[in-house]
Amino acid sequence: MTAILELRNVSRTFGGIRAVDDVSFSLNEGEIVGLIGPNGAGKSTLVNLITGVHTPSAGKVLYRGEDVTRQKPHQAARRGLARTFQIVQPFPEMSVLENVAAGEMFGGEPSSYHEAEERAAEHLDFVGLSHVAKTPASSLTLPNRKRLELAKSLAMKPKVLMLDEVNAGLNPAEIDGALDLISRISRRGITILIIEHLMKVVLSVSQRLMVLHHGALIAEGAPGEVVRDPKVVEAYLGS
Ligand code: ADP
Ligand code: MG
Repeated sequence: MTAILELRNVSRTFGGIRAVDDVSFSLNEGEIVGLIGPNGAGKSTLVNLITGVHTPSAGKVLYRGEDVTRQKPHQAARRGLARTFQIVQPFPEMSVLENVAAGEMFGGEPSSYHEAEERAAEHLDFVGLSHVAKTPASSLTLPNRKRLELAKSLAMKPKVLMLDEVNAGLNPAEIDGALDLISRISRRGITILIIEHLMKVVLSVSQRLMVLHHGALIAEGAPGEVVRDPKVVEAYLGS
């Protein structure tokens, strides 16, 4: 079976800093995989390397076996390599519905703006935001802003969805709600890479867990085993 996404010996340096250091892994279609690591471990940089925001200094990125190492962000988006941003940035003046319709116009190839809005309304229903569809995005609460971000990603027809700390700043009940939504997105067949610096957040939803520390993958496997790995415990104690 060909992996939907594969990284082969990917590194990225910024000046003298090796932000990502010889990382190799694959994601299988439909999997939900957790990526954890302390602040500064290189998690967001890894997402930037997969989505064409940055180009690897060395190594290869493959999408369904095709070399996409030098792709531009719009090409990554068209392929279905979608990501949320750590800092949520909706178009603040636009309504919640218009924000998602804009995503449909860009990535969903609707036949008209009317169709884009119809599909946007379905995404809002799925993420539980129908009741605020007409509200300006800027007036949403933090948990709802994160739901909007997920609805916008869904509008882009993702094949692989990378969630960069979407649970940051949420309380435990809000995190449960967000994880439930992420599980429902996974059940649509979308491959998910869920990134967090807090390991307990991803334990319950991840089928596999990978740990990044100082840019390198230091552990990978079943979540229950990975969290007991002495290298992982030490990385977290030292952070
Ligand atoms: P994480 O998301 O795990 O907290 P990051 O990927 O944001 O970590 O950062 C990893 C390292 O790379 C940090 O030392 C950070 O300062 C550095 N870094 C990330 N992006 C850039 C950039 N565009 N320019 C310079 N250094 C960067
Ligand atoms: Mg980050």
